[in-house]
Amino acid sequence: MQLLFRCIRPECKVNQFDDEGNSLEDHGEHPKVLGPRGERRWLFNTDCLSDPSSDELDIVEGEWDPIALTDALGLLAIGVPGAKRWKPSRTVWRRLVRDFRVVRFWKDPDEAGDELFKQIKNDVPHLRLIETQWDVNKTLQREGAGALVEAMGL
Ligand SMILES: [Zn+2]
Repeated sequence: MQLLFRCIRPECKVNQFDDEGNSLEDHGEHPKVLGPRGERRWLFNTDCLSDPSSDELDIVEGEWDPIALTDALGLLAIGVPGAKRWKPSRTVWRRLVRDFRVVRFWKDPDEAGDELFKQIKNDVPHLRLIETQWDVNKTLQREGAGALVEAMGL
């Protein structure tokens, strides 16, 4: 387990929204979520990797979206702690995920998401891409769990 700290600096506009309800949150060059000083951030929710109930694994960016997938759909889901965090730990992390028969990646709809998908796909050739209009949590809030099931092609 690892303690995490979320940035709440006023200048990052946390919990501020435009007229259409889109988040104005922007952390610029620093990460939204930090580990304790000097500690390398690890995959989130790796406990589920030893759960024998399924041979399917879902990978998402961040911590909140895997919680949402587990909560809403009962999936085994892990979080990569940021789009740039796969590469430095890939030699270990690929071993943890590639033996699952099905591995899905829920891509955030942005360039960082595209890049993270490419990186993981390099290490996990059978990785399946799941695309949604918004990230998992926002899709769940706006369209409900049915939209996530539909995105999975089920
Ligand atoms: Zn910030």
